[in-house]
Amino acid sequence: MRALVYLGPGQKAVEERDKPIIQSPGDAVVRIVKTTICGTDLHILKGDVPTCTPGRVLGHEGVGIVDSVGAAVTGFKPGDRVLISCISSCGKCDYCRRGMYSHCTTGGWILGNEIDGTQAEYVRTPHADTSLYRIPDGIEEDALVMLSDILPTGFECGVLNGKIAPGSTVAIVGSGPIGLAALLTAQFYSPAQIIMIDLDDNRLEVARAFGATDTINSTNEKAAEKVKSLTGGLGVDTAIEAVGVPDTFVLCQNIVAAGGVIANVGVHGHKVDLHLERLWAQNIAITTRLVDTVTTPMLLKTVQAKKIDPLRLITHRFSFDRIMDAYQTFTDAAKTRALKVIISV
Ligand SMILES: [Zn+2]
Ligand SMILES: [Zn+2]
Repeated sequence: MRALVYLGPGQKAVEERDKPIIQSPGDAVVRIVKTTICGTDLHILKGDVPTCTPGRVLGHEGVGIVDSVGAAVTGFKPGDRVLISCISSCGKCDYCRRGMYSHCTTGGWILGNEIDGTQAEYVRTPHADTSLYRIPDGIEEDALVMLSDILPTGFECGVLNGKIAPGSTVAIVGSGPIGLAALLTAQFYSPAQIIMIDLDDNRLEVARAFGATDTINSTNEKAAEKVKSLTGGLGVDTAIEAVGVPDTFVLCQNIVAAGGVIANVGVHGHKVDLHLERLWAQNIAITTRLVDTVTTPMLLKTVQAKKIDPLRLITHRFSFDRIMDAYQTFTDAAKTRALKVIISV
C-alpha cells in the first residue's frame, strides 16, 4: 500500500509499505477513505515532536471502512464505516475511567506519532471498540474527518476549558482550523462577543462568516488595546490561545479580564513568559489540555442535526497520489488560503 512517511525534520515521501495486520486482539485494520493534514503534522515535520521518529506513517485523522478486526473486538465488523479518533483509548485504565483518554496508558495520541497513522491506504487502530465511531447515515464523509481531531480539540481544549457562558466575552487568538473550530463550537453557548485575532486578513474574513462579532489583524493593530476598547476596558472572560507561540500566549495574558480563563490549545515548542507579577491578583485560571475526544459522540449529533457545518472548514481536495501537493498547499496557507485539505484515498 502507499503511505506518506516522515523521514526526519523537513523530509517526507510517499513509500510502498506492507498492509498493516492485526497485532493484538483489540485492533482493527481500517481501509482509509478520506484523511487530512493537521498543523501538528507540520510540527512533526519541523522536528518539534520527538516521540515521532523517522519512518513513521503520518496522519491521525480520517474515515474509512473496517477491513478486519481482532478476536476481542465486538463493536465493529468488516464493512462498517467508521470515524477514526486521533486519540486511542483502552476504556479501562485509570485515566480512561476518568474520561482522560488523552493520557490512556496504552493509547492517547499515538496514531501518526508513535504508531503508523492514517495518511495511507490502510491503518491499524488499537483499542478499536473504544477508539472508532460508527458513522450515522446522512453525514458526508468529508465533514466527519473534521471530527477526528479539530472539532473536539477546539471544543474541549478551548470552549469547555475556557468556560464559555451565555453573554460572556471571548477572544480566540489564531484563526486557523483549530481557532475556527473553537469559534464554531463556542456558539453552542451564545457568548455575547467573540473576537478573532490573526495576522491574516483572509482568515479573519472567514472568521466573520463563521460568526465572529469582531476581528483584529494583530500585524497592524495593537491587539490588546483593541480588545480592551471592544470590551469596555475589561478584557475578555475567555482568551483561547490557538497558535502555540510565545507572543500569542503573552497576548492572552494581556487581554484576559479579572476572573477570566486563558485556555491554551496551541502546541508550544518554546518556553513562554508568565506575568504573575500582574496576574497573581486577577483571579484568573490557565488551562492546558490534550484533546480527550470524550465529546466526539456529542459533536457527531450536532453535525447530524446540522447545528454546525464542518464542511465550511474544507477549502481544498486532493487524491492520494497528489498528497505531496496537498502538503504544499496546506503549508503555504497564507498564499493558498487553505484551511483543511481533504485527501481521498
Ligand atoms: Zn491534529
Ligand atoms: Zn486507557
